Amino acid sequence: MEHESTPPAKRKRGDTASEPATVPRRSEKFWFDDGSVVLQVESTRFRVHRSILANYSPVFDDLFKVPQPEGDKSDWVDGCPTVCMSGDTTDDWDSVLSFIYKPSSLPTKWPDVRKLAGMMRLGKKYQLDDIFQEALTRLEDQFPQELDADHSTDCISDELHSWIESNFEDIACIGEEMALWGILPFTYYLAVSVDANIPEFLLSHPNLSYNSVRSVTYGSSAMWKDVVERSFGWAKPTETIIPTKGCPTRHRCTAARTLVLGEVFTQIGSQDLCIALDNWEKDADHEFCVECHKTAKQACQDGRAYILNNLGRYFLGEGWEELEQTKSEHWPVIWKSR
Ligand SMILES: [Zn+2]
Repeated sequence: MEHESTPPAKRKRGDTASEPATVPRRSEKFWFDDGSVVLQVESTRFRVHRSILANYSPVFDDLFKVPQPEGDKSDWVDGCPTVCMSGDTTDDWDSVLSFIYKPSSLPTKWPDVRKLAGMMRLGKKYQLDDIFQEALTRLEDQFPQELDADHSTDCISDELHSWIESNFEDIACIGEEMALWGILPFTYYLAVSVDANIPEFLLSHPNLSYNSVRSVTYGSSAMWKDVVERSFGWAKPTETIIPTKGCPTRHRCTAARTLVLGEVFTQIGSQDLCIALDNWEKDADHEFCVECHKTAKQACQDGRAYILNNLGRYFLGEGWEELEQTKSEHWPVIWKSR
């Protein structure tokens, strides 16, 4: 409980080691004259309604049922008891109260992930189950529900790409904190495929956790292996897939195969991971016959479908399926152990 009348601690002249005590200030957005409880979070006070909080959370319901001792109201503010929310942040409470009192201020399409993270964090801590679930659903709803292997990248819109790009560190952070194994692999993939160069991508995200750095580096190298071996294995001169047995233009198809091999080398050299899920289309100067083209395209599609089905394994390691299915809070095997 907080004493409203406590004066700020006096500082000795020249004492620069200790900061002056911050005077609590009223929230401009959430200070209701008919509010019945004051929540103090860091240096901000929110005057809100006990009945509304109790309705959302059994933790607050129990807290408000505890009889207040008669007489001593030294820690009351404006006639309301004050509850100190230690360990919480003002931004997280602002997000929760925005959802409760001003839901229209939180867009459902391309939301600010920091606000959803605040709702989840406090939702979990205070058993605000509806608020936690709402934030989780809003986050998950941004991702394609079904990724069709034949049209895998068609459902990845430019808006989704730029939303991931601008929220990447926040999604990675809350994904790690809340064990969101279903969305993390796709987030990692989309984030690294925005930048053409993975080392540069990692350098441009200095706040990324060590676990996420591991996921990005392990995941991308595991994906390259399957791009080379599965999607474009047919382009190697040592394979006997192209030209096909019935190919009528063996020399031209062999030359076209060599061109594709060179292009795959170039994309690997520039670390352009888009190649893993993009649909492969032959260029005008790839003079494949109909049959060889069909065979090559099918191999690419099969490889891409395999890669798509294995995104979780690339970025979170073996056993990710069990983590996702059981909603386990154990860490993936490729992260350092807790
Ligand atoms: Zn051919």
